[in-house]
Amino acid sequence: MFQSINPFNNKVLGEFAVWDASQIEQALSTANTAAESWRQVPLTDRADYLCRVASVLRQRKALLAKIVTMEMGKLLTEAEAEVEKCATVCEYYAEHSQSFLADQALASDATRSFVAFQPLGCILAVMPWNFPLWQVFRFAAPALMAGNTGLLKHASNVPQCALAIEDVFKEAGLPEGVFSSLMIKASQVAVVIEDPRVHAVTLTGSEPAGRSVAALAGQNLKKSVLELGGADAFIVLDDADLAQAVQGAVTSRFLNAGQSCIAAKRFIVVESVADAFVASFAQACEGLTRGDPLKSTTRLAPMARADLRDEVHQQVLTTLEQGGQAVIGCELVNESESDSFYPASIIDNVKPGMLAYEEELFGPVASVIRVKDEAEALSVANSSRFGLGGSVWTRDVQRGEAVARNVASGACFVNSIVKSDPRLPFGGIKASGYGRELAHWGMHEFVNIKTISVG
Ligand code: NAP
Repeated sequence: MFQSINPFNNKVLGEFAVWDASQIEQALSTANTAAESWRQVPLTDRADYLCRVASVLRQRKALLAKIVTMEMGKLLTEAEAEVEKCATVCEYYAEHSQSFLADQALASDATRSFVAFQPLGCILAVMPWNFPLWQVFRFAAPALMAGNTGLLKHASNVPQCALAIEDVFKEAGLPEGVFSSLMIKASQVAVVIEDPRVHAVTLTGSEPAGRSVAALAGQNLKKSVLELGGADAFIVLDDADLAQAVQGAVTSRFLNAGQSCIAAKRFIVVESVADAFVASFAQACEGLTRGDPLKSTTRLAPMARADLRDEVHQQVLTTLEQGGQAVIGCELVNESESDSFYPASIIDNVKPGMLAYEEELFGPVASVIRVKDEAEALSVANSSRFGLGGSVWTRDVQRGEAVARNVASGACFVNSIVKSDPRLPFGGIKASGYGRELAHWGMHEFVNIKTISVG
């Protein structure tokens, strides 16, 4: 049984049965039949469908945002922004797919040679709960526009989101089977990947889940894309605008109660400005009022589940035992009204070997690593086994760009927090995964890049 539990008050909102083998078979068969006809639908018609999906999302914004907030705890304002972003990505691909999927002529010995971008068929998407709508739509919009059908295995704690997403596609009039939510457990993912009607898989989630799904995809010789965890560096150089950097630090680290893959997690600060940065960062955190995420006055949401909160707290305790210094937070607060709350926390003097230096802390905890200069900042940034995003803060944008080029990650922003944007490719290197989402690169992950050569 999947349970939908409100992390703010621990109330069970609903229970949903886990599918059996015959229900999975039915969904695969429907998606496969749909794939055969969906690929024949003209691109302009597919674009119209996606625009209708965007309209339904906007019409249902209040309802969808409330489902998200009640089910995984993020602030209602953040949930509303997430719905809007989903509508935007649908419109982006509706507008640009004609050019992204247009044949590309290439010179060769042949009379005429070109590349055509053709759909692969049914694609499985295994998705996390932290941005329960956005993660799904940033996969679905390009995949469906390219003529594929989508099968979603959503995280177990967001079954209502999974069903609400499926209903948005249905309401927009997409043919049955073009997008379906599979109500399955992680242990049932293998059956779907192994099925010959499924042609590729994408997973957004943790490193262990990525390894498991990639291994299954490999055994079955199927394409996979992995969007995994991150421990993004937030490099504050000696010439940074500290007020701007602190504002970015607070937004990046505490949005979504710190549960974002591209949140700044390791604050690598040059010693000459470190005291001022830490003092100002800590002061700014005092404004993060906790409370009911449905209320507009709340600034820090509860975490999505009590067990996740406990896991983060254990990581904090271990880091403190290893010599990290608590600046603010770092203690469990037993709020009667909230089971999953963790306070905004900063740990200073985090050093190599400490848990917060080596691992991803997926909650509202900032680790400050002090360094002597730019060279050491880069070396610390690149010592992580993750490589998702990163940011550099300096008044000298040329210097910032040069540092950004040398950060080992899939993206690096100068004087801005890391954000996903339909127009920019998104993805990681090293243990953060492989492949890209968004922009034309994301769309081309799930197409057959087919060479046609005419003699
Ligand atoms: P998770 O435990 O890996 O779960 C993600 C999804 O994978 C869920 O649907 C989960 O299903 C499924 N899953 C877990 N183990 C699996 C397995 N062995 N085989 C098949 N499916 C499996 O991750 P999470 O705790 O929900 O999310 C947090 C992690 O995701 C963090 O590391 C975060 O950085 C990363 N993340 C990355 C991105 C990105 O774009 N790079 C974005 C968001 C989050 P169940 O829920 O049923 O277990």
